[in-house]
Amino acid sequence: MSVAALIEKALSGPRALSVDELAELVALTDPEAIRQVRAAAYALKCRHSGRLVSMRGLIELGNVCAKDCLYCGIRKSNANLARYQLTADDVERLARLDALQNYGSLVLQSGEIEGEAHTAFIEECLRRIAPLGLGVTLSLGEQTEEVYRRWKEAGAARYLLRIETSSPELYARLHPAGHSWERRVECLRALRRCGYQVGTGVMCALPGQTPEDLARDIVFFGDIDADMIGMGPYIPHPDTPLGQVAPPLDNAERLRLGLNMVAATRLYLHDVNIAATTALQALADDGREQGVLAGANVMMPNITDTKYRRSYQLYAGKPCLDENALACRGCLERRLALLGEKINYGQRGDSPHFHRRTSRADGARL
Ligand code: SAM
Ligand code: SF4
Repeated sequence: MSVAALIEKALSGPRALSVDELAELVALTDPEAIRQVRAAAYALKCRHSGRLVSMRGLIELGNVCAKDCLYCGIRKSNANLARYQLTADDVERLARLDALQNYGSLVLQSGEIEGEAHTAFIEECLRRIAPLGLGVTLSLGEQTEEVYRRWKEAGAARYLLRIETSSPELYARLHPAGHSWERRVECLRALRRCGYQVGTGVMCALPGQTPEDLARDIVFFGDIDADMIGMGPYIPHPDTPLGQVAPPLDNAERLRLGLNMVAATRLYLHDVNIAATTALQALADDGREQGVLAGANVMMPNITDTKYRRSYQLYAGKPCLDENALACRGCLERRLALLGEKINYGQRGDSPHFHRRTSRADGARL
């Protein structure tokens, strides 16, 4: 099928494309075809979210992690970094900073820790920041349904848990024993039952990953009826096992694939929130803006104190290591203005898909 015909079919309604058709979009390399696809995805983003980009200040709570994902710079076995954990006072101060920036939402992210002390700590953070009225997203890994419920009751509205890849075989190659793809899927279901806006996502440009794998990832997002998508290119970290393997693509190819994924996901799902992630910015100075022009409508500027940022490097080349929250906001505002986009100040910027599905009688697809 021609690219024009693929776009027309995609615009006929959500989930209109087949795996093979999505794989064609993901694998595109011809500049003119890519331009057409991104323009259609951007128009769809504007139809659902306007010429606005919603912000979530990102607070990197701590880099202690019980897991050992083979690609991640803060994995348990990496001894080459100082471990840190913010206090509830730190979190409250940063949440106030987020409110002062008028971002409307924030994300609390960290390595994965299970246990009562951590669960209660997150509850305390949530209770302290609740009066600020922000939309709070958690990205704290796999937990029991009981823990997800407690955090929801303490004020969290959204949860981001990337499936990393929808292929159980590829997942097994990227994780050591004891890491379970099935548990991750079950966690996504539990989050849904608890009433969260549920976000998931994948890494692209992974060794051994094909365009068909990525096309199936996008279908997975639709099948679990995700509200939010956060995905980005895999970027090697030298202190990880996967970082020792020569990456399959160079930076430009990784960026192209990441942007193709954003555009294809927008064309497939239509009304979800899609983040222009920092990994895109790590590959090109204007990577996140390119993400918006490919259909993303959310950004997550880092508001963590700069002294901690070097200790939360998931991959090599993390951007904005020394740029504080205020400088970051001014920079983003200018960059978005060049695209004719504005920051969605003071708004939570919830997923339109979430509101649509929760107002449907058949709200529970999972
Ligand atoms: N620990 C939680 C989890 O894994 O869900 C949340 C934090 S984790 C650092 C957030 C995401 O970082 C992961 O879902 C993974 O996709 C991404 N990530 C980790 N290492 C990466 C790498 N080398 N390149 C790109 N993204 C990476
Ligand atoms: Fe831990 Fe998340 Fe990194 Fe895996 S991706 S090692 S769970 S922080």
